[in-house]
Amino acid sequence: MESRRRCPARKQEGTTAFEKSVTMGWAIALHGGGGDIARTVTSERSELAQVGLRHCLEIGVAALRQSRSALDVSELVVRELENYPTFNAGKGSVLTAEGTVEMEACIMDGVTKRCGAVSGLSTVTNPISLARLVMEKTPHIYLAFDGAEKFARDHGVETASMENFITKENVERLQQAKEAHRVQIDFSTPTGSNCHQETVGCVVVDNQGNCAAATSTGGLVNKMAGRIGDTPIVGAGNYANHLCAVSATGRGEHIIRATVAHDVAALMEYKGLSLKEAAEYVIEHMEKGTAGLVAVSNKGEVTMVFNTSGMFRACAREDGYSELGVLA
Ligand code: ASP
Repeated sequence: MESRRRCPARKQEGTTAFEKSVTMGWAIALHGGGGDIARTVTSERSELAQVGLRHCLEIGVAALRQSRSALDVSELVVRELENYPTFNAGKGSVLTAEGTVEMEACIMDGVTKRCGAVSGLSTVTNPISLARLVMEKTPHIYLAFDGAEKFARDHGVETASMENFITKENVERLQQAKEAHRVQIDFSTPTGSNCHQETVGCVVVDNQGNCAAATSTGGLVNKMAGRIGDTPIVGAGNYANHLCAVSATGRGEHIIRATVAHDVAALMEYKGLSLKEAAEYVIEHMEKGTAGLVAVSNKGEVTMVFNTSGMFRACAREDGYSELGVLA
C-alpha cells in the first residue's frame, strides 16, 4: 500500500522561488521505461535498448554543447527515442485491446510553465512534436483523438498509416496479454518481455539554468481503447518549473494518483528538499514495483530513481559525469 510519512524538514536557504540558481552547467537524463526488467527483458532486448539510449544521449549532449535550449533538446531526444521501434513510443507503441495504436505525449518548459499534451494519436510519427505544437500554436494545453489528429493534419506534421507503427513483437505481446486477461505492466506475471513497457522521457537543464521535460508513450499493452495514462497529464508523468524537470514511468494509474512529477517539484519548492531528496521521497512512498523517474534541477543536478527492479536510464552533465544503467 502507498503510505505517507512526514516529509523531512529542511533548512531554509535555497528554498525561495526566486532564488538565483548556482548552476553547475547543463545536464540531461533520459529513460526508456521501468519495470520488472530483471525477470522480463531478454538480454538481446536490453542490449538494443541500451544502444538506443546511448545514441539518444549523444544527440542530446551534442545539442547542449551547441547551446540549444532545454526545451529544444528534450523534444529532439524524445523524437529520436520515438523513432526507435525498441521503445514503446512512436513506432513500436504497444497495442490497445482493439489492436490499435493510441500514442500520447507531453512537453513542458520550466521557465514559462508553458506545456502541451496529446493523446489518442494513431498516425502521428512524432507525438512529442505535436505536443509542442499544441503548446505553441493553440490557446489550449491538451488535445486528444480526432481533434488532435485533425490538428496534426492542419499543421502538416508527418503522419503514416497506423499499420506503420505496429511491430510484430507488439502483436505477440497483445496476444499474450489477452490470453492472460491482463492489462500489461503487471509485473507479477512471468510471461515474458511484455511485463515491461518502454515509455520514453527526457529532462534537460541548459546552461542558462532553464529546465524542460518531455515524455512519450504508447501506454499499456491491452489497455482499453480510450484509456489515458499518466504521460500526457501535466504533473503526473511529466512536469517542469523554474526549479526542476521530471519525467516518470511505470503504472500510469498509480502515477496519476500520486501526481509524481509535480510532487517532486512541490517538495523542492515548498519544503526546500534537494532534487535527490524530493525524488527519493516520492518514489519511496509509492507501492513497490510501480514507478521510476528521471529529473534534473536548475543547478545542474541529475537524479534517476525507481522502485521497480530496473529502469532503462542514462544521463550526462557538463562536468563530464555520465551514466547508463538498466538494473538496480
Ligand atoms: N506510464 C505509462 C502508462 O501507464 C507506461 C510506462 O511508463 O511504461 O501509460
